[in-house]
Amino acid sequence: MTDLSLPIEKLKSVGPRNTPRLAKLGINTVRDLLWHFPARYEDYSRVVSISEIEPGQKVNIQGEVLKMSNRMIFPKRMSITNALVGDETGAVKVVWFNQPFIANSLKEGTLVSLAGKANLDKHGLYLSSPTYEKITTDEYSFTPPAGGLTHTGGLIPVYPETEGVTSKYLRFLIKPLLKDMEAPDPLPDEIIKKHNFLSLSEAINKIHYPADNREAETAKERLAFDDLLLFQLKALLERRKLNQLKSVRVKFDKDLIQDFISRLPFELTRDQKVAAWEILKDLEKTYPMNRLMEGDVGSGKTVVALIGAVQVAKNGNQSVFMAPTEVLANQHFRTISELLGNNFLNIGLLTGSEARFNSQKVEKINLKNKIARGEVDIIIGTHAVIQKDINFKNLAFVVLDEQHRFGVAQRAALVKPSSRAQAEGNKEIVPHLLSMTATPIPRTLSLTIYGDLDISIIKEKPKNRQKIITKTISPLQRKAAYKFIRNEVNSGRQVFVICPRIELADPTKEVRGKNGQSKMNVLWAEAKAVQEEYKKLSEEVFPDLKVAMLHGKMKPKEKTEIMNNFKDKKYGILVSTSVVEVGVDIQNATIMMVENSERFGLAQLHQFRGRVGRGEYQSYCLLFSSTPDKNINQRLKALVDCDDGFELAEKDMTIRGPGEFFGVKQSGLPDLAMASLANVELIKRARLEARLLLKDDSDLSNHRLLKEKLDSFQRLTHFE
Ligand code: ADP
Ligand code: MG
Repeated sequence: MTDLSLPIEKLKSVGPRNTPRLAKLGINTVRDLLWHFPARYEDYSRVVSISEIEPGQKVNIQGEVLKMSNRMIFPKRMSITNALVGDETGAVKVVWFNQPFIANSLKEGTLVSLAGKANLDKHGLYLSSPTYEKITTDEYSFTPPAGGLTHTGGLIPVYPETEGVTSKYLRFLIKPLLKDMEAPDPLPDEIIKKHNFLSLSEAINKIHYPADNREAETAKERLAFDDLLLFQLKALLERRKLNQLKSVRVKFDKDLIQDFISRLPFELTRDQKVAAWEILKDLEKTYPMNRLMEGDVGSGKTVVALIGAVQVAKNGNQSVFMAPTEVLANQHFRTISELLGNNFLNIGLLTGSEARFNSQKVEKINLKNKIARGEVDIIIGTHAVIQKDINFKNLAFVVLDEQHRFGVAQRAALVKPSSRAQAEGNKEIVPHLLSMTATPIPRTLSLTIYGDLDISIIKEKPKNRQKIITKTISPLQRKAAYKFIRNEVNSGRQVFVICPRIELADPTKEVRGKNGQSKMNVLWAEAKAVQEEYKKLSEEVFPDLKVAMLHGKMKPKEKTEIMNNFKDKKYGILVSTSVVEVGVDIQNATIMMVENSERFGLAQLHQFRGRVGRGEYQSYCLLFSSTPDKNINQRLKALVDCDDGFELAEKDMTIRGPGEFFGVKQSGLPDLAMASLANVELIKRARLEARLLLKDDSDLSNHRLLKEKLDSFQRLTHFE
């Protein structure tokens, strides 16, 4: 039996030169090697007879070496190896370049299996640099799949490679290990039987050398299931930890809420009512809410969260609304003041640049004191401010707007226990948490990486919303589009212009960059793009119109001022980076113009589009693209036809893969499980089995292997 923990340098076939190379691929032990799964397979499953070979095809043939010779071409310092290989049906020429050793290895009379492309030139048909493998008489057969072959028969694994480590070398290492490998299976027998899964050892064998695509799929499914199960276990355990914490129980007063709703200036949609109900129900629990409310921009999430906050206030507790930017915090403050009307609640605004108490501007310290004394019911602010130095008297409810996700650990750090709770000696009291996002999350993602959250979805749009007309604009249509924009502005409407997203040369840096360096570069680069677009539009294209710009290098105060001026119609056109992506509500804006829209994902473009169409006027989304690439423009067309954010998110995921979605890369989900994120059914099965496992064995003490895997998995994802 192979020792899986054996370091690879102990393998005979791995020399000191290759050890560091393999390490680059994350391969340090035999186990790593066996878990280095193929990225894809070359299909040589059909062994053809030589007479069947057609030019242009990838073929797998088996035959006898009839002739073999080497030749040097001196001016080019190149060697050419020519062979003739024949079977019962005929013979074909074979050519290799710069591999003279082949002539020694495949002497005349040797039986070989060859896999490669057939070409045709003026001398006739030949195989060009095929992969080769000597075979024995037993293996010499025309009955596919050609079992037992490492490099040429059946489905041949193609691995993720790195310099000096080819697939061929990896096959050479992995194949012999598979034969007597026996991996202890962490999955309980019942589960394996119930789902008809392969055993772990079988799955590992077959993922490397499947007989056909179906077998490869079965193996992948089993292995992905393992990871998905761990993920679900992790989510459930996290959930359970949370449920052991305490939070303020806020009683749901139906009459009060009905009264509040009846005095709103509009009728709530059904989805809003359902979401509000779910939130109110969560607030009644003695453990903290951990809910995510998803809904397109403009779907009216704020008022739903506000309903929760009103109930909390009537219970004598405080709520906080946190927005990612000052612009948004201001907007929330305005919206909430309006919606509250004469409900006699006290609200406060606290951002880096100002503090307000109800309609008055106040000193920050003044507001903070009021908050500490419990005189402010709802506090609205930016993340940074709230996290630092506010003491709440009795905070019970936190609303995070446009914040995709906070983990349990951050959540604990996010809000200190309230002073009342501390006074009562109960440090475990944490506020209920509601996160809101306008980024629709594909269903499979919410079942896996967001598995520990409860989710409320607002799909339905308020009745007064009109359909936005979306058009893709090719370079040829640019002039006409500008003319259209001018007409709109001249008739009093306003326009958002979003500048292209800046792609970093090394995008991984952006994610990892601890020093913030690369992020800064992006901000600068984006600011530059905005300045250039601003110059172009204000000087060349629309010198007659009022144009303003907004970017990440401006001070928050400047940004707020420009936003406010735009809201007051002092400008017709606002050029910006994707910062307007989140939240702003400008009813008079009717055109969303996106430059180089092909650089954005569908879900994000959909969010931009949501910035317009909020008032009474017909609105438009103009997607400028500068590429003639038909596929890309086809992708943009999806936006023309569809205005359902969830559907677009699903499409986005199939087109760009789940890795592009927020949180997925950070989630630590292994590649195989990631690829299986399209498989709702498998995810559901993993979820169910995780529940059943924990029900009977709440700390997994009867499933030692599974527990070990879970622990190491948690260690891994913890340091992401
Ligand atoms: P988002 O979900 O993008 O945060 P908001 O909460 O900012 O959306 O709501 C957008 C606008 O729609 C606000 O002005 C809000 O008052 C209004 N609104 C919310 N719900 C409704 C409704 N049911 N009918 C009409 N207008 C609504
Ligand atoms: Mg919002």
